[in-house]
Amino acid sequence: MRWWIICIILLGTAQSITADPILIGMHCQSSYLRSGIAISVGSYKVCADDKVLFTIHAGQNADITAVSGKVNIFYSGKNYTSNKKLTFRAEEPSEFKAQPAGHKASSRIYKGELIAFSINGHLQLVNKVDIEDYVGGVIEAESGSGQQLEYYKVQAVISRTYALNNRTRHVGDGYEICDATHCQVYHGKPRHEPLAVKAAAATEDIVIVDHQINLITAAFHSNCGGKTINAEEAWSKPVSYLVGRPDTFCLSMPNHQWEKRIPREKWQSYLKQKRSSNDMASADGVIIGEYNPMFCHDSTLYIPLRTMRTDLKLRSTHFNISHQGEEVVFKGKGFGHGVGLCQEGAMHMAQLGGSYEDIIHFYYTDVHLIPRHMLWFFKD
Ligand SMILES: [Zn+2]
Ligand SMILES: [Zn+2]
Repeated sequence: MRWWIICIILLGTAQSITADPILIGMHCQSSYLRSGIAISVGSYKVCADDKVLFTIHAGQNADITAVSGKVNIFYSGKNYTSNKKLTFRAEEPSEFKAQPAGHKASSRIYKGELIAFSINGHLQLVNKVDIEDYVGGVIEAESGSGQQLEYYKVQAVISRTYALNNRTRHVGDGYEICDATHCQVYHGKPRHEPLAVKAAAATEDIVIVDHQINLITAAFHSNCGGKTINAEEAWSKPVSYLVGRPDTFCLSMPNHQWEKRIPREKWQSYLKQKRSSNDMASADGVIIGEYNPMFCHDSTLYIPLRTMRTDLKLRSTHFNISHQGEEVVFKGKGFGHGVGLCQEGAMHMAQLGGSYEDIIHFYYTDVHLIPRHMLWFFKD
């Protein structure tokens, strides 16, 4: 189909994009029974199992507790009980704060709605939030502040693609995605970096797909050390868009090189533990290929570098080893698994004026950026 026809269709459907809420598990790294809720903007109708209990307004508080599989809410001197779940339905654009018991005072502010239920003996809070507001929050939580707008746009598209590709990850938990590193870090709406919201809005609805128009797994890492690697080198299975390539953009960035020293004794006992026999004859004579991505070897011992990275807490699998006196010195490049997008390279490309599209096409092979609501069209 000609591109001008596609453009007309896209323009014609642009108005039909409707808000798409996503369910995010809150404070998923810990377990708690009680949480304070404070309304900061607007108002909410609080419902127990779909029956309206009361309306709570900005400046008011409530206390939610999980008890024997039910949820209690204490508000304005009265206790209410819900058998299944409590829902805070927004009457207008509204925001709230949540303060689970045992957490240090939180300044997290959430847009959208709140759902609370009891599961596995604890209280679970869920933020039902528009996906674009969610993406803005993830950008700040994952990337911090002080970066270029184009870099934040890259993170926006990656985070949106991830969220839409993983909506069933927590299907048994009562929400879609958690707010911890297991999925993507999310601490509510961004508070320090105004460009996070701008980046989400500027890339609204855009996702990354592969040549078969499937949402990609947009792998990324901190710094590739000068060359990204194929997916199969890190995870054994090839992926069409995760193909290694040289990258000079990250060479001047902070995580490009690293060094770690360990006592020779510790190194020898590590090799001894890895060796099936107790023959230590060649322990000092370890030869490492020049940044060999797969194996560390001498004549008798092979240790996958991935294993060595985990065991010895090294920053990457891209390293050489030398012996200096009573120490063994690891000199390496990069930080992370090296597959897909190199964050520091992407930051530098953005500083040099690269667009978010340029950056994504540089690190992911043969991918397309398309509006999510048009996936069906390109699939056909
Ligand atoms: Zn998760
Ligand atoms: Zn790089």
